[in-house]
Amino acid sequence: MPNRARVGTLLLALFCGVAGCDAITGRLIDQGVKQALRGNRADLLDDGKLNVVLCGTGSPLAAAGRASACTAVLAGGHFFLVDVGPASVHNLGLWRMPLERLAGVLLTHFHSDHIGDLGETVTQSWIAGRKAPLPVYGPPGVDRVVAGFQEAYALDRGYRVAHHDAANMPPEAGTLSARILALPSLDEAAVVFEQDGLRVTAFRVDHTPVSPAYGYRFDFGGRSVVVSGDTKPTENLVRQSKGASILVAEALAVHIVERVSKGISEGGNARLGRMSHDILEYHTSPAQAVEMARDAGVEALVLTHLVPAPQNRVVEWLFLRGTEGLWSGEVILARDGMLISLPPNSTEFTLGNVS
Ligand SMILES: [Zn+2]
Ligand SMILES: [Zn+2]
Repeated sequence: MPNRARVGTLLLALFCGVAGCDAITGRLIDQGVKQALRGNRADLLDDGKLNVVLCGTGSPLAAAGRASACTAVLAGGHFFLVDVGPASVHNLGLWRMPLERLAGVLLTHFHSDHIGDLGETVTQSWIAGRKAPLPVYGPPGVDRVVAGFQEAYALDRGYRVAHHDAANMPPEAGTLSARILALPSLDEAAVVFEQDGLRVTAFRVDHTPVSPAYGYRFDFGGRSVVVSGDTKPTENLVRQSKGASILVAEALAVHIVERVSKGISEGGNARLGRMSHDILEYHTSPAQAVEMARDAGVEALVLTHLVPAPQNRVVEWLFLRGTEGLWSGEVILARDGMLISLPPNSTEFTLGNVS
């Protein structure tokens, strides 16, 4: 037991002797409940700003403190999640994000590190009080993914309705509703959602052989945020990011992964060495992301889906090698819990923590 916990237990035992254990533990529980009922981050929905929360900045490779792909956007009373990778919903719960007001999930593609928490997303937001089926937007194939999660969680839905009754857990609110976005050509874009000043646009990126794969752009209050999804450098991402405030782009440090892949192969694991080399084909290096941000003329670049995820300043520096001198704009390495707020009709943004 760590020292602080040991001291705490000792003090509790001491106080129990004086005041009685039930009184002490009761008060501790009451305090915990009060804290849990304290307001959530619904303020981010209605503060007039375009707010972005990085809810998962890692990749399929496990990394301490980083969930897999997830970016939350909140503006004009609407709350969207772009991808829901494994562990991202735990993050949202820990940060008291207003899941009861979740308007939809926008999937960029169907790799497991982008969809793994879809079942938890619908379930946790249903428990939080969401009232209608949860729309899940995505490329053709989203209907299959949604049908699969729907079936996998069917028994769970039944238990909850039976246990808490349909008035408290409306059965239809526990379901997902697939919205297929068809964008036949590589340079097409389509408006997915437009309400209360918030416009969401889907566009094609290039993550071949994963095809089609999408990115999403959010416009609100004269500001805009583009989320790239997984892609190699593509002209359409630059085009769709023109004049945007922030580009949230995936980044894979090719110079590190190449070396790691070689080391794995030389260490005797040819299969893993080959697979780690394959991933170089369909991602974007930090330098390529910086070049796209520069060409699009965005105000700042946020790198996410970090492969490998830097765990200290030295690796952060190493991760960004090759970007020096390419662009004078700000390059930010994302971390879970980062909150970026963009006030309307301005070029300012604030960088903070959501909790
Ligand atoms: Zn992918
Ligand atoms: Zn991915």
